[in-house]
Amino acid sequence: MKKKVLVVDDEDFQRELMQKLLSKLGYTVAVAESPEVALTLLETEEFPVIVTDLIMLDMDGVEFCRQIRESNMESIIIALTGHGELYDPEKLKNAGFDNHLSKPIRIDVIQQALEEGFEELKRRKAAPKTT
Ligand SMILES: [Mg+2]
Repeated sequence: MKKKVLVVDDEDFQRELMQKLLSKLGYTVAVAESPEVALTLLETEEFPVIVTDLIMLDMDGVEFCRQIRESNMESIIIALTGHGELYDPEKLKNAGFDNHLSKPIRIDVIQQALEEGFEELKRRKAAPKTT
């Protein structure tokens, strides 16, 4: 599986930082400055792992995640926020998030979460859900 990651964040600095760090780690990275832009991108391109900020204008990360799940996309979705205290982990899980991390970004933590995500996708592929 190609290790493609989509990063969604409304802050230029965060997007650039993530793009730099994740590229250095060997991932293929795309960035979007809003959920709207990301959803348009997802119409034509598949991303196994999506990392999204939570607090953004117009649409927050939770609503973004819900919309992705509504379209039945099976990507691993990881929340990344500087305000974890504002979000109940249970609420994030219910919205469809697979994982959540806090800013400031720690490179080892984000790498581990991404690798876990890709591993989880591999497991799912090997043992398809029987629903
Ligand atoms: Mg933000």
